[in-house]
Amino acid sequence: MNFDTIVLGAGVAGLAAGRSLAEAGQRVAILEARDRVGGRIFTTHSPGTDYPIELGAEFVHGCPPELLQLIEEAGLPIYERDGRALCFENGRLEDCSFGDAFHVLDELPASPDMTFAEFLATKTLPEETAQRTASYVEGFNAADAQRIGTASLLKQQQAEEEIEGDRGFCIRNGYENLPLYLAKRFREAGGEIYLQTLVENITWKPGHVTVHTGNPAVSQLSAPRVVIALPLGVLQSGSVRIAPAVGTQSAIDKLAMGTAARITMVFRERFWLDAAPDLSFLFSREQIPATWWTVSPDPAPVLTGWVGGPRVHQLPSGEARKNQALAVLQRAFSRSDLAELLVSWHTHDWQDDPFSRGAYSYAPKGALQASSELAQPNDNTIYFAGEHTDITGHWGTVHGALRSGLRAATQILSQVS
Ligand SMILES: Cc1cc2nc3c(=O)[nH]c(=O)nc-3n(C[C@H](O)[C@H](O)[C@H](O)COP(=O)(O)OP(=O)(O)OC[C@H]3O[C@@H](n4cnc5c(N)ncnc54)[C@H](O)[C@@H]3O)c2cc1C
Repeated sequence: MNFDTIVLGAGVAGLAAGRSLAEAGQRVAILEARDRVGGRIFTTHSPGTDYPIELGAEFVHGCPPELLQLIEEAGLPIYERDGRALCFENGRLEDCSFGDAFHVLDELPASPDMTFAEFLATKTLPEETAQRTASYVEGFNAADAQRIGTASLLKQQQAEEEIEGDRGFCIRNGYENLPLYLAKRFREAGGEIYLQTLVENITWKPGHVTVHTGNPAVSQLSAPRVVIALPLGVLQSGSVRIAPAVGTQSAIDKLAMGTAARITMVFRERFWLDAAPDLSFLFSREQIPATWWTVSPDPAPVLTGWVGGPRVHQLPSGEARKNQALAVLQRAFSRSDLAELLVSWHTHDWQDDPFSRGAYSYAPKGALQASSELAQPNDNTIYFAGEHTDITGHWGTVHGALRSGLRAATQILSQVS
């Protein structure tokens, strides 16, 4: 089977690239291992609520123009998250007062690039403040403070400021509607999506690519070029062989795939109303999960616990995960009846998922330029896309993935026109 471009992966990056190319008149195939599109956007539903349950991405972080435009074009209703944050500290639930704990983040150096842990060691901070700041950086970036680089953190911080990154929005009927819309537009433009099609290896020479898959119906496809929009974790694992190896393999190796876990719990009622009717976030330091959020101002009785970075390994799996999460909430709200109020709970193991092998990427010390290297085409034949190839400081986000897919399509179209 011959195409103008083959796209690997039907996450937001692959779908965005495929849609742009198909709408420009190219014959495009997207190959996807799962039985659904969306990748790390993965929405499910619970009998206890009409509120959609996200197992992967949930927030639109800030006001990234490409993403907001796409959401508007798709006609998806969004709302802004807000409410009051509470902290459970020293056995008491109270308004959070972080003092100057995070001021140190205003002093991140671009040069010399150092790990966040090395940076903290240069500061004379009380032990508790240092720990709190490291936990924040690890939690938000799904990163290890011993690895993530200050240069990339600074770049990310500046990028977030440009898009009002402290605001958060949600798609009311579920994030999955975004990739579903992209897939619909792609198909309407003549594109083909092959689900349950595991890409096993890629052979190439300049101007010609052959992709071999585990799907007997489309076991071999050829095109003058390919967009590899597979997650960083998959590329690092070597489960998809590229022969000959691409010059940008060292950039793939320099980046890191972060670890994160979330557990979303649907209750019969909002048992936290007495503590704070408009509760948005709950921080319960020293417990795991330490970070929780509601869906405020939506009144759905839904709470999500979050763990990012190395602490993920302290969260058990299965029933024990649910029990540990419930125990944190029971302690924070002094309730013993939460098990009876629980309607359902939902989680997904992104670390063990063979099609993600982690949550999202970050740039360790010394790897600031790795994404830019990856974003460069190999002989105008192999193009990389995906959140890890975003060059604008928005690693690990849906809008970073979207930007990278649009960038790859623009690169290809500028070559062929
Ligand atoms: C728990 C969690 C919470 C998150 N929260 C947020 C959030 O609130 N806001 C935000 O902006 N971002 C969030 N993110 C990050 C965001 O989800 C990702 O950055 C983004 O969705 C990545 O898109 P992508 O297209 O680059 O990759 P993916 O969505 O991973 O797409 C890659 C596709 O490749 C497929 N694939 C893998 N291997 C193969 C193979 N061998 N053959 C064929 N196909 C293959 C995968 O199945 C997948 O569909 C979160 C991520 C996680 C895991």
